[in-house]
Amino acid sequence: MTEQRFDWSSEEIQALFDLPFNDLLFRAHTVHRQNFDANDVQVSTLLSIKTGSCPEDCKYCPQSAHYNTGLSKEKLLEINKVLEQAKEAKKAGASRFCMGAAWRSPTERDMPAVLNMVREVKALGLETCMTLGMLKEEQAEALADAGLDYYNHNLDTSAEFYGEIITTRTYADRLATLEQVRKAGMKICTGGILGMGEQVSDRIGLLQQLASLQPHPESVPLNMLVKVPGTPMENLEELEPLEFIRVIAVARILMPTSRVRLSAGREKLDTTAQAIAFFAGANSIFYGDKLLTTGNPEAQQDQALFRQLGINAQSASNSLGEVVDEAALLETLTTNNALYQDAAITRVRSSQSARVKPCGMVI
Ligand code: SF4
Repeated sequence: MTEQRFDWSSEEIQALFDLPFNDLLFRAHTVHRQNFDANDVQVSTLLSIKTGSCPEDCKYCPQSAHYNTGLSKEKLLEINKVLEQAKEAKKAGASRFCMGAAWRSPTERDMPAVLNMVREVKALGLETCMTLGMLKEEQAEALADAGLDYYNHNLDTSAEFYGEIITTRTYADRLATLEQVRKAGMKICTGGILGMGEQVSDRIGLLQQLASLQPHPESVPLNMLVKVPGTPMENLEELEPLEFIRVIAVARILMPTSRVRLSAGREKLDTTAQAIAFFAGANSIFYGDKLLTTGNPEAQQDQALFRQLGINAQSASNSLGEVVDEAALLETLTTNNALYQDAAITRVRSSQSARVKPCGMVI
């Protein structure tokens, strides 16, 4: 195990960014191997339980009510629909079920339904993960009491650049929610988005902030901006994939035991770039053909890539240790229904019983 630090200075992080690419990759991969099986990748899926009409103004987000993106909106799903999906996910090998709602924060009126979802999904024997926006102390406690295991709330970017992206809530608000989540005893899934016009110093600021959380977030989703027409970011310049991989490598070094997830925007990475990203320390992806409201590579392509790389080649196993046929898992994920936008699947690399814990989601 690599020693964990929570006091990385921006100069130290800058020095990592400045390393020649091969040196950075070698260092990141060494850390990766010291802490994980380098050939396993965790796969997650997510159900959107409430889509669109969000009052926040996150400039990248098609779910914001501030932008006209033609997104079809959905009210909070009924518990039966959620359970239907959760059961399918479990049948397909899921050990964790992630649910996301496009809210500034849950209202008191929404909470009973949300808590019921957590309890009922949990009763199926699944781990639970949610992303609902900002939480008050009592809401975080209620979610934890209901059995919620993980909470996703992304920092998005550096504190300095944050105001260029979102004006309806502050960076301090986000940190406060993460603190409530920790205090309530839940695990944290938090990361950011690259390619929003930020400077390298903002990438450094984001990673420094994430790595200062003690303990480090259990899951760190890193997204490449998906430029959705109708959002203020639709015409930004594309992020160079190698720049994105640098961020993954530095994240791996700073947070050696966190799951680093390739999240939205993965379809912009060709298979070679994804292979390098895994080598650099990414060990989690979203699987399926949608990631909330943005595109995600087809699951079959993922399966082909995993086979090529020797990742998850044979079987998947759920939290009860049941071995699930990979073809059945894929079929369920790719053909099952329109509501599947993510969800959480436990996968193993080989026919041995090693399990890979899935986690979290990203909006
Ligand atoms: S990112 Fe989340 S909070 Fe921001 S507009 Fe989208 S759904 Fe709302």
